[in-house]
Amino acid sequence: MNTGKLYLVGIGPGDAGHLTPAAAAAIAESEDLVGYRYYIEQVAQDASNQTLHSMELGQELERAALAVDLAYAGKTVAVVSSGDAGIYGMAGPVFRVLTDRQWDGIGPTVETVPGVSALQSSAALLGSPLMQDFCAISLSNLLTPWEQICRRLNAAAAGDFVAVLYNPRSRRRVTQLDEARRIFLEHRPATTPVGVVRHAFRPEQAVSLSDLSRLDGEQLVIDMFTTVVIGNSNTYVHNGRMVTPRGYEAKQ
Ligand code: SAH
Repeated sequence: MNTGKLYLVGIGPGDAGHLTPAAAAAIAESEDLVGYRYYIEQVAQDASNQTLHSMELGQELERAALAVDLAYAGKTVAVVSSGDAGIYGMAGPVFRVLTDRQWDGIGPTVETVPGVSALQSSAALLGSPLMQDFCAISLSNLLTPWEQICRRLNAAAAGDFVAVLYNPRSRRRVTQLDEARRIFLEHRPATTPVGVVRHAFRPEQAVSLSDLSRLDGEQLVIDMFTTVVIGNSNTYVHNGRMVTPRGYEAKQ
């Protein structure tokens, strides 16, 4: 059977400069683009040559199924995610659908094109916060039970990991960030630096430095366009930059 090609494309934080040439090439080669409206409209080359399948929040599996159908029908399809498609992105739903369809690993061809994830773009804007071991935790409990997220927050806090929080707060989920902060305060001083990056590399970009005592979402806008980076016991602020030294010995 003449099956098509499925690209899983991470488009980076939002501006053209941080879209990799490989991602741009995969998008240009594709006949169909699938993703959130905001992202596919940003990267569509020429709407007359490409069919855009935009989706709303919550339609991920449906759109993944559509992309897989199109690829089985012989089309070249790009499923786009912000940042990296493999980090809280569309790669998950797509591989889930491929598994359900008993995909043979050969046709359609599936290729993931890595992108610059929010943790990288946020870290770049903040300074060098990710210089020791770090972890990413999504505070969204839409797909993961909150108890499980709390276990991970506790483990990260106890293990002195720098923690990057994705999906920190939405209009409906307003308590999770406060709970996360409370868990970290059990293990780290209130003065622990926290970096807050909203809309990295987009026109609305805002970068702020705070600490665990002030991270209550009152003074700062923290929403679904924001990534929060909590420092470890070695992290400090120097001239507006959040710095985690490369080695534990450096801060003496
Ligand atoms: N696949 C994406 C993450 C999708 S989850 C990636 O690899 O970056 C969505 C979350 O990512 C948002 O709630 C926010 O926490 C973070 N995020 C995505 N783009 C961002 C940006 N430009 N600036 C700050 N945070 C961003």
